[in-house]
Amino acid sequence: MLSPAGTLQSAFPINSWETHLDINQAWQRIADGVRKFQTEVFPQQRAMFESVRKAQHPLALFITCADSRILPNLITQSVPGEIFTDRNPGNMVPPYSDFVGGVTAGVEYANLVLKVPVIIICGHTDCGVMKALLHPETAAGLPGMQQWMRHGNESRHTVLREFAGRSEEEMLNRLAEANVLEQIAHLKTHPNVTSRLAANEVMIRGWVYDIGSGSIRQADPVTGEFTEFSSI
Ligand SMILES: [Zn+2]
Repeated sequence: MLSPAGTLQSAFPINSWETHLDINQAWQRIADGVRKFQTEVFPQQRAMFESVRKAQHPLALFITCADSRILPNLITQSVPGEIFTDRNPGNMVPPYSDFVGGVTAGVEYANLVLKVPVIIICGHTDCGVMKALLHPETAAGLPGMQQWMRHGNESRHTVLREFAGRSEEEMLNRLAEANVLEQIAHLKTHPNVTSRLAANEVMIRGWVYDIGSGSIRQADPVTGEFTEFSSI
């Protein structure tokens, strides 16, 4: 099994996630990574890569934030071909009627062509978009973000109403959860999803991944209540 964790060890002199690199340092780090992949990682997994050369049958459509700390294949310990990933700031899913964008196209392809059996919408702790939803003034000068964030507006209002006065961290966590539920509701406006749900061909789960602990909170599919996810 491919171990993406191998790429996280200190195989390189600079831990780029701990510091800002300049252009040359950043490019060098990327180039070193590609070289390591092609000379060490790929050859060790050649048969597995060969097996997915011409087809994919992913286990899941995994919709998550663009945040660099979320690694769907690492979290689920899956290999190439198993997770069809759609990422954007805030793990948003625009309602079907809004517009045709990348998420809409990805959902359509995953459901109608790949026929994924599972859809996961995965938010996370310390999400910059959740912070901006709580404090819209921090998104000043970011018109693209302001437009995109409106897909989480209902969650923002819910959390401001129900958790006013709580700590910043708790409000952010509750908002991450509410936002996942809101995006699941949006997902259910997509006809390719509703038809497959009705036929019992797909299940949807909502997660919030805790970056600092590696734990996952999962929403009850009926009540929407989040509890610690345990696979055991
Ligand atoms: Zn995020």
